[in-house]
Amino acid sequence: MSETGEAVVIGAGVVGAACALQLQRDGYQVRLIDRDPPGSGASSGNAGSISTGSVIPVALPGMLQQVPGWLLDPQGPLSVRWSYLPKALPWLIQWIRASKKERAEGYAAALAQLTLNAVEDWKFILEPEQRERLIHQKGQLLASRTQEAGATELFAQALREANGVATEVLDENELRQLEPNLSRDFRRGLYIPNSGHTTNPKALTEALVALFQAVGGQFTRAEVMEIEHSGGQASAVVTAGGRFPAERVVVATGAFSLELARPLGDQVPLDTERGYHAMLLKPELTLNRPTSDMDRKFFATSMEEGLRVAGTVEIAGTKAPPDYSRARRLLNQAKEMLPELETREHTFWLGYRPSLPDSLPVIDRSRSLGNVWYAFGHGHIGLTTAPATAQLISRMMQAPDGHLDDNAFRMDRF
Ligand SMILES: Cc1cc2nc3c(=O)[nH]c(=O)nc-3n(C[C@H](O)[C@H](O)[C@H](O)COP(=O)(O)OP(=O)(O)OC[C@H]3O[C@@H](n4cnc5c(N)ncnc54)[C@H](O)[C@@H]3O)c2cc1C
Repeated sequence: MSETGEAVVIGAGVVGAACALQLQRDGYQVRLIDRDPPGSGASSGNAGSISTGSVIPVALPGMLQQVPGWLLDPQGPLSVRWSYLPKALPWLIQWIRASKKERAEGYAAALAQLTLNAVEDWKFILEPEQRERLIHQKGQLLASRTQEAGATELFAQALREANGVATEVLDENELRQLEPNLSRDFRRGLYIPNSGHTTNPKALTEALVALFQAVGGQFTRAEVMEIEHSGGQASAVVTAGGRFPAERVVVATGAFSLELARPLGDQVPLDTERGYHAMLLKPELTLNRPTSDMDRKFFATSMEEGLRVAGTVEIAGTKAPPDYSRARRLLNQAKEMLPELETREHTFWLGYRPSLPDSLPVIDRSRSLGNVWYAFGHGHIGLTTAPATAQLISRMMQAPDGHLDDNAFRMDRF
């Protein structure tokens, strides 16, 4: 492997950590910078699902009609802080546009590029020791109380089929055989056998950073204030603690990425879909695989530290204080999903999904600077798609023009 030059990766979430490791292995001398310890952001508290079947964009045909009901239902999966609505409106309008059938079909095909081999991508980027401890392949289960699938669900299933995602439709008994602890209210399920999960998302990002350091990468803890540039090229990354000259820069700061991209002249409709989890420390039961309550739209996953119930979308930006009543609702809903669940000992968490309205990330070179690349906006599937993103970033960096033709994750698609 040749020495190809230096690179600075900003953001040690799962996406930035994967990029840093991939680039270091591909011959670059890489410095990874984060204001917090690795994996402290959205990447620490997610549901742990490596969702091979996640070709379904969030906005789907027919969903708009369901939104008012969700907003009025205190147990619903979506809420909007009204004070944030004016700011969120342009994003929400683009989200509604993205729900058109033809568009959703296009996004699904793009998502398939990042998700179909996700478990293999994870196995490839890790070494055997971390792989064995942290990556499990027992599929994913989606369970519903309804007798029959509605139109949105049928459309989602058509997208899976069109994009080669293997699934098995389960009846009540088959559902129970896979997950005996599920409530008797559930009538049917969808099993996605090739999906995987991690039992410790934070440790997974820490493992990436440890591997990165083991092959010569440097991790620096500092807040990045700006990217200095002149003549169409970035020249340095300026942190609160000092200035790092930079031949190449990757911005992977999740929901906060526009704070660095916007001053460079790069703009996309990035916002955050805030999500919560409740971590049950002594649940007294386990699930064999990530299992979703399809009707209430959350996931429950058994992890090293307990059973995690994660989900909900709250549109309120990155500055509003947490509303832990949403996490408490998840706790109550988990009890309905798993009646024997012990919920007394628990912790709550809020995380910022970095989301674009079309559910695709930005993986692209800057429009303004020739040596800056972006890897952000992975929404609901950043854990799943981090290794594939890292491969794309490395390929772009090594491409003669620094970008790839036919890139579905371009930043000028809006
Ligand atoms: C409730 C919930 C459940 C989820 N479940 C799943 C799931 O099951 N499967 C899945 O695939 N995905 C899931 N996700 C999505 C996934 O967690 C995210 O897409 C992913 O973590 C995003 O990773 P990231 O590295 O882009 O962002 P982050 O993990 O947020 O990392 C960004 C990093 O940038 C740093 N940073 C920001 N600004 C600066 C700065 N100026 N200077 C220095 N550092 C900076 C932050 O400190 C942070 O460490 C879930 C998300 C939530 C909220």
